[in-house]
Amino acid sequence: MEEKRVYTFGNGKAEGRADMRNLLGGKGANLAEMNLIGVPVPPGFTITTEVCNEYFEKGKADVVSLLKDDVEKSVRHIENLMGLRFGDAKNPLLVSVRSGARASMPGMMDTILNLGLNDEVVVGLARKTDNERFAYDSYRRFVQMYGDVVLGMKPVNKDDIDPFEAIIEQVKAKRGIVLDNEMNVDELKKLVALFKAAIKERTGEVFPENPIDQLWGAICAVFDSWMNERAILYRKMEGIPQEWGTAVTVMAMVFGNMGDTSATGVCFSRDAATGENRFNGEYLVNAQGEDVVAGIRTPQQITKEGSLRWARQQGISEEIRAAKFPSMEEAMPDIYKQLDALQDKLEKHYHDMQDMEFTVQEGKLWFLQTRNGKRTGTAMVKIAIDLLHEGEIDEKTAIERCEPNKLDELLHPVFDKEALANAKVLTRGLPASPGAACGQIVFFADDAAKWHDAGHKVVMVRLETSPEDLAGMSAAEGILTARGGMTSHAAVVARGMGKCCVSGAGAIMVDYKTRTVEIDGVVLHEGDYISLNGTTGEVYNDQVTTRPATVSGDFAELMKLCDKYTRMVVRTNADTPHDAEVAKNFGAIGIGLCRTEHMFFENDKIKAMREMILAEDRKGREVALAKLLPLQEKDFYGILKCMDGMPVNIRLLDPPLHEFVPHDLKGQEAMAQEMGKSLDFIQKRVASLAEVNPMLGLRGCRLGITYPEITAMQTKAILGAALRLKKEGLDPRPEIMVPLVGTDKELKSQQAVIKAAAKELFDEKGMSIDFKLGTMIEIPRAALTADRIAKHADYFSFGTNDLTQMTFGYSRDDAARFLPTYLDNKILEVDPFQVLDQTGVGQLVDMGVKKGRSTNPMLKCGICGEHGGEPSSVKFCHRTGLDYVSCSPFRVPIARLAAAQAAVEE
Ligand code: ADP
Ligand code: MG
Ligand code: MG
Repeated sequence: MEEKRVYTFGNGKAEGRADMRNLLGGKGANLAEMNLIGVPVPPGFTITTEVCNEYFEKGKADVVSLLKDDVEKSVRHIENLMGLRFGDAKNPLLVSVRSGARASMPGMMDTILNLGLNDEVVVGLARKTDNERFAYDSYRRFVQMYGDVVLGMKPVNKDDIDPFEAIIEQVKAKRGIVLDNEMNVDELKKLVALFKAAIKERTGEVFPENPIDQLWGAICAVFDSWMNERAILYRKMEGIPQEWGTAVTVMAMVFGNMGDTSATGVCFSRDAATGENRFNGEYLVNAQGEDVVAGIRTPQQITKEGSLRWARQQGISEEIRAAKFPSMEEAMPDIYKQLDALQDKLEKHYHDMQDMEFTVQEGKLWFLQTRNGKRTGTAMVKIAIDLLHEGEIDEKTAIERCEPNKLDELLHPVFDKEALANAKVLTRGLPASPGAACGQIVFFADDAAKWHDAGHKVVMVRLETSPEDLAGMSAAEGILTARGGMTSHAAVVARGMGKCCVSGAGAIMVDYKTRTVEIDGVVLHEGDYISLNGTTGEVYNDQVTTRPATVSGDFAELMKLCDKYTRMVVRTNADTPHDAEVAKNFGAIGIGLCRTEHMFFENDKIKAMREMILAEDRKGREVALAKLLPLQEKDFYGILKCMDGMPVNIRLLDPPLHEFVPHDLKGQEAMAQEMGKSLDFIQKRVASLAEVNPMLGLRGCRLGITYPEITAMQTKAILGAALRLKKEGLDPRPEIMVPLVGTDKELKSQQAVIKAAAKELFDEKGMSIDFKLGTMIEIPRAALTADRIAKHADYFSFGTNDLTQMTFGYSRDDAARFLPTYLDNKILEVDPFQVLDQTGVGQLVDMGVKKGRSTNPMLKCGICGEHGGEPSSVKFCHRTGLDYVSCSPFRVPIARLAAAQAAVEE
């Protein structure tokens, strides 16, 4: 059978369905679905995402000829349903040409509206609608969009002026008017002529008068936009593969700009910022699509409740609100009722919060888009739990609805209540995306990225944002805009990113030239501190103190659900009682990796440590180790106490000794004095410790085998601390882990040292304690011989940082030199140090588990690399049969959710 490339919809029928989003894109699939469930949608058709791939393989000409018949037939389909004809001056059909990928990419691709107009059709449209102004306003918008999008006249560089905007400014200046809608019909006509001339001048091409030519130009432009810079950047940030492609939807235009009974708007079935179950949105009377999102006119609220709230935030009196900014509920009550019923119907149909676009043409309501709405992390959790309580979804679905990485937002600091009460409120805007942000002001996206890279926290302040600002927004702590509503670009994108955003703060005056912003008489410069409260819309002078987040309410409920379904448990990597405490509050049930070396860097300890390393012989080392023992014991006491009743896995000394000794003259002199040796002696000892490949040198268990007294001291410190706690009636559960094992003999030899030291200590103290002894699997040979190694181990912990380094043969410290090139050239899809390489390194993990358990069925297995907090890697660990993952404290809830999802998906 011939491949089907085009799917039509309209009048309650459709060839597509919601579950065909891979083929029709989200927009196309949902337009089809809305037809099927009785939501009014203008008729149209969708060209599949597969055609997009064909387009980039075969080229424009081939694809146009492949599509020609289908597209022409489908245009007839729209004509018949609308009773209009494409290109007919008496009764013209106009269409929009829209893009739509599998995953929504808001504002990323360009849409062309009012297509089908030309010099002849515009006259007919004016006559038919008896509205010359509307006809020419539509026409000039179309010519501009066509020039910008199809003919590539949109400036690439944001600081360059759009040539069409420049013409508009000239025309307005001539008569001294300010607003676009003050232009009269003659001026609109003049714009069309000037626009066409500009197109000819800039591109050498004549604006196509033939609607069919316009249509093909637009369809190809949508495909081309899949490869534009911002689309590529967005895909990179969101991890969307290029092969997915975009679909193209062509549909009949409906007009929200035909007068006061027409309108256009955007609405959400729940609050995308907080997750509250309240219908909300914005609309504009007598306006066309983009006007609401572009942030040029101030949109009005859809519900009365929302309108009252908005007026309060903006400090607008009820009198002015009711007169100038009434809600749709008040101004168009009948339409509002229909809209409210349909939004409810759509949410119930999709069982999720919907983000919808609609247009009212002369009193008739049309839906133009619906999708599962983007939302903040807070809203994500609240909506999932609420839908669960409402019986819309079950527990497993609630778990699956939440994106692990988005929980990150809920783990960040919030403003300290007291500090907030004392903060000076400079102004208020709209609470566009919640959270607390504090940083130095920058005005441009480039600067935001640069300052961020240099280690600054920045807040980006702008009149409004556009897709060009994406990278800057991502680098900033928060975003403040002067214009734009709750559905402006800044607001929508910030919510998607989980960035704090205050939008539409009308009282701020941004001056890009002097790089200043004036707020209520206070002038702030680039680099000055400012704080934003995205939850209330408040803007504060200076820095406001924040405090750590806690797991409570809906978040706690979600975590409880996770615990119900998960098989793996989550531990944390922590070296201090403070980190352990943080992780415990986030639900860690043990420590998966406690690195002892970090403890050596504090004052007293580093001195004793250096003395031990620089000592000439065993006797010298033992003197130094005797000083270290009580200090280490104190550290372990703190951590074991904090994690009472939970396993604490402590790794013996791992890094090359060279990392601990002083490399500067001052430090070496101090060391010489401390030890009563000559400077020359110290320098020679330091030099003798240098290695060509320290990562492959004297480190890990090789240290403990070379200097068994170090292992003995650490064992006594760990178990000594545990004995003290036991005496105090607590329940310490220490685990001692030997790093960097490559052969079973290494582990066996360290095991003997550890057991002997333990026995000595137990005899001395007259009491004993149970402890576990395990090893890291981080050298490929250890995975290959795991059956032998497991005979001497209670547990394995896969150290996937080193395992990745040694399996790939990439130095962790030097990989930055080539990894970016590898990623750009698709030699690697992702950084294997961030996302576990399941194909290669994963095989070693799998083998390690299987072989290990083949000789030791009781063997416990876990992972302690950076990967332990990365959702896709966590899911892999589940499938591989690990007992736990361990990650940094702030990733614990993320890992818990990912682990539960893995269990649910099974
Ligand atoms: P985006 O993905 O950037 O939202 P859309 O394709 O949704 O782009 O379209 C941009 C704007 O144009 C939206 O406000 C949409 O509602 C409006 N629009 C698209 N098609 C039509 C149409 N046929 N009639 C009226 N407005 C439309
Ligand atoms: Mg849209
Ligand atoms: Mg290691």
